[in-house]
Amino acid sequence: MEAGYDVIVIGGGLVGTATALALNDAGLRIALVEAAAAPTVPQDESWDSRIYAISPGNIRFLTQLGAWKRQDLTRVAPIEAMHIWGDGGAQLEFSADEASVETLGVIAESRLMQQALWVQAQTCPQIELHTSARCQRLVFGVRQAELVLENGRRLSAKLIVGADGGNAWSRAQAGIGVNTRDYQQLGVVANFETALPPRNIARQWFRYDGILAWLPLPGRRMSMVWSTDPAHAAELMAMSAHDLCAKVAEAGGHLLGDLRLITPPAAFPLRLQNAETLVKPRFALVGDAGHLVHPLAGQGVNLGFHDAATLAETLRARGAQTDAGDYALLRRYERARKFDIAAMQTMTTGLHALFGSDLPGAGRLRNLGMTLTNSQPWLKRRLMAHAMI
Ligand SMILES: Cc1cc2nc3c(=O)[nH]c(=O)nc-3n(C[C@H](O)[C@H](O)[C@H](O)COP(=O)(O)OP(=O)(O)OC[C@H]3O[C@@H](n4cnc5c(N)ncnc54)[C@H](O)[C@@H]3O)c2cc1C
Repeated sequence: MEAGYDVIVIGGGLVGTATALALNDAGLRIALVEAAAAPTVPQDESWDSRIYAISPGNIRFLTQLGAWKRQDLTRVAPIEAMHIWGDGGAQLEFSADEASVETLGVIAESRLMQQALWVQAQTCPQIELHTSARCQRLVFGVRQAELVLENGRRLSAKLIVGADGGNAWSRAQAGIGVNTRDYQQLGVVANFETALPPRNIARQWFRYDGILAWLPLPGRRMSMVWSTDPAHAAELMAMSAHDLCAKVAEAGGHLLGDLRLITPPAAFPLRLQNAETLVKPRFALVGDAGHLVHPLAGQGVNLGFHDAATLAETLRARGAQTDAGDYALLRRYERARKFDIAAMQTMTTGLHALFGSDLPGAGRLRNLGMTLTNSQPWLKRRLMAHAMI
């Protein structure tokens, strides 16, 4: 059985589902193919240990897609300030007041955002959802591309979008390689109840043993991301709840008082990765399938949403005669995204290297840089403006 679409999006994670919605808004008929079952949210009050800092620009994007209104806002925390500490005592502070905005962004749970996007996609007659789908083969022809599923279904489209994450199957099928650099770190994540309220402040410490972030959740709760070397990550993962709470509280100078673990820790390997190209004739990559960045700036999914918005804009602006899989059109999308992705990768990799360096003088240099930045309101406003897109 064959079904024809304008676009097939492979991968229904946050970025793939947002891409399907944005392309649907651009008037295209979409198949969204996801390997897992449709997302569900547990009925209990548990908190997802995968949480993301989402920029104000992307909240506007999700609002336009109709997904933000489906988000349970009682579980979303605004970020009103960011406090960052260097390993030599330097401090850098950003605040929404300084930037004359309401918030610098929000902290939201992955699975609730996923559910909101998915439910919105279900309301769009021009989006066909294929869940628990096993992709078998991708064949690129002159006039269209064809995706063959293991159940024998054949789906064809003018354009295939690969949104299937860092180890993307679609990327390999399209013959696109990747350049990868292992950061030799894992991101250990866990959620805690806190004795003192986090007051909507995101906190980050550049420490000798990695980069520790405490991100505010609603109420007296916070979510930790500790990017650290594999041995230390294994140590954290093996600790009892009591010892982990004591260790994390101590690492953050007991700023939120005693901690109580509310979700078990999980660890994710961190790597820098770039696809050799984001596009080929009849093929485009979005999200982690195209690029991975260090989570220290909380920008991975934000970059992916920018990909989704830019791809949709590029396709919307094409002339009526231009095929959605046209290579020159897709190159326009790639050119529009290149700088943003490269700038974020350079910034996060640079900070990771600077704070990981034992070279003589590096410690003074990085702390001096933070102190100087903190004393320049114009520079802080520019940095904040960039992070809020
Ligand atoms: C510790 C940590 C903290 C982070 N914090 C932040 C943050 O604060 N802010 C931020 O912006 N980013 C953050 N990130 C980055 C963020 O997690 C990723 O950028 C984001 O999840 C990428 O989404 P995606 O949809 O591109 O890929 P994924 O989330 O990997 O989704 C891919 C989807 O494709 C599906 N799939 C896979 N293979 C197939 C196949 N063959 N066929 C069909 N479907 C398939 C999968 O089931 C999945 O649903 C963090 C990352 C880490 C590791």
